[in-house]
Amino acid sequence: MIQLKSDKDLDRMRWAGRHVAEILLSVRKLVEPGQTTADFDRAAHEEIRRRGLESSFLGYGPGGARPFPAVICTSLNDEVVHGIPSSRRLREGDLLKLDFGVIFEGFHGDSAVTVPVGRVSEEAQNLLDATRESLYEGIGQMQAGNRVGDVSHAVQNSAERAGFSVVRQFVGHGIGRELHEPPQVPNFGPSGRGPRLRPGMVLAIEPMVNEGTAEVEILEDQWTAVTRDRRLSGHFEHTVAVTEDGPEILTQVPGSH
Ligand code: MG
Ligand code: MG
Repeated sequence: MIQLKSDKDLDRMRWAGRHVAEILLSVRKLVEPGQTTADFDRAAHEEIRRRGLESSFLGYGPGGARPFPAVICTSLNDEVVHGIPSSRRLREGDLLKLDFGVIFEGFHGDSAVTVPVGRVSEEAQNLLDATRESLYEGIGQMQAGNRVGDVSHAVQNSAERAGFSVVRQFVGHGIGRELHEPPQVPNFGPSGRGPRLRPGMVLAIEPMVNEGTAEVEILEDQWTAVTRDRRLSGHFEHTVAVTEDGPEILTQVPGSH
């Protein structure tokens, strides 16, 4: 069942979202060649402690999966999502995806951004721009009375119009007291289908957009998803509330995506 949030719940989710946005922005500013992805995990974890929050991701492991060992996902180049921070060093031209979530007073916020490491290829930049654009096309459809399929369709159309493909194996989701709540929000599919959007619904919209094939596979670490053809992938995500006045992005502060 889709949980509608009360005004009080929404206020807590605004705070959760704001913490996510501020921390993600501070981590993003550390991105440069030579840094390790573990550096970003340490920095994000320190901010979580300082602010008295809990991580949405650390220890996460549905269905007996290996618990996720970090507070942030760091996915490079052909890695789509769920990359595990490590001692790997960033190199000029890498495309880094940071995905981050926290719990504030029992409610989750969830957001992801694709960050260029130094100067990246024109194709990488185009993919980044198209992925962000598809996120905002989807968010634009988050009007009360529309359906989840209208969001899905807008994301897919936008990404494919730019010449890229959308991942099927992972989808956006409702969010609140749980990191992943109903409904699922695919980044593909026909408009006019799925649950109707109502004020009080909060969804994490998160297009994963690939340069080549939409197919992904999971590495031996049981988490990292990579493109099957090892070409590039982009990922952007916001936690967004449906209100009477249209979509309200909860994971945005000045300077963030
Ligand atoms: Mg996320
Ligand atoms: Mg998410």
